[in-house]
Amino acid sequence: MESLANRKATAYHHLYGLKAWQDARHVQLAHQPLCERCLRDEIVTEARVVNHRIKHQGDWALFIDPENHESVCAEHHDSLIRREEARGYVIGSDIDGRPLAPDHPWNRG
Ligand SMILES: [Zn+2]
Repeated sequence: MESLANRKATAYHHLYGLKAWQDARHVQLAHQPLCERCLRDEIVTEARVVNHRIKHQGDWALFIDPENHESVCAEHHDSLIRREEARGYVIGSDIDGRPLAPDHPWNRG
């Protein structure tokens, strides 16, 4: 479904390229390197993605607020996205950031 929300998501996608976001993302992952949702189930998984607890929809304050950031693993992030898409709008988060671990497959070759 091509929704207005999806087009809006593309419109604010550039926010993820900003240094302010890259910095905030690194701070969040340094502060909480483990997936917070896995931890709730007492599973220890390295976080790969910083997710927005509240969808920012391009709202800068929500986008950059550390209180609105949570560390999640790629699997949890993907399931969050699928759930949001099932509701017809996209979640305010990204998978653009490269993993911190240099030996992660994403960082090889
Ligand atoms: Zn997880």
